[in-house]
Amino acid sequence: MVETLSIAVIGAPGVGKTSIIRQFIYNDFSEAYTPTRSRYVHRPSVILNGNMYELKVLDVPPITSFPASASQEWLDLRCRGVRNANAYILVYDICCVESFEYVKMIRQQIVENREGSSSEVPILVVGNKRDLQRQRFMPRRAVSVLVKKTWKCGYVECSAKFNWHVVLLFKELLGIAVARGMRQNHTSIRLQGALQRNRCTVM
Ligand code: GDP
Ligand code: MG
Repeated sequence: MVETLSIAVIGAPGVGKTSIIRQFIYNDFSEAYTPTRSRYVHRPSVILNGNMYELKVLDVPPITSFPASASQEWLDLRCRGVRNANAYILVYDICCVESFEYVKMIRQQIVENREGSSSEVPILVVGNKRDLQRQRFMPRRAVSVLVKKTWKCGYVECSAKFNWHVVLLFKELLGIAVARGMRQNHTSIRLQGALQRNRCTVM
């Protein structure tokens, strides 16, 4: 049976959420900024350690807060599926402190609004636009320590523009989700490259 994992990608406008997803699935990048107005679901398949997973990647348009209840989620089309996602990618722009504040707020709301053990859902914080790192607002090490030690989330920096660490971040998140959800121990995760033609990435 193929396991399906839904991953919600959330972050402030313009941080590069759509670019990361498009680079991961289609090996495509656009300099032009087209704001995402409605929620979009991508369904790539990936192979991790010989197992196939179907991902449901939600490109979430800007939301002011994480939906506090099922009814709130139902009423706001942009957030459909966000509360019950199996994992979260929270993206910020390493040059924009406000986008980091947004991620901080959403992470807090995820932990508060998801009930019981589901509040321990895997969350990966992603610092995008690494290619512009001379303009970053905080050293990488400081952010990484804060996110990993205090927030207990994973942390990866990437550049959607140069496809740097994009596959890695999905691999990292899937690795955490698989380890937690299915209680399997994957000792080695090997990146074998992306197969773009059939939209299946071997990780
Ligand atoms: P979203 O609103 O979070 O979905 O952001 P988009 O993916 O639409 O990207 C917003 C803008 O940032 C676009 O003009 C992209 O070309 C640009 N962008 C995205 N990722 C990167 C990156 O890694 N480096 C640079 N320099 N620009 C990026
Ligand atoms: Mg977008």
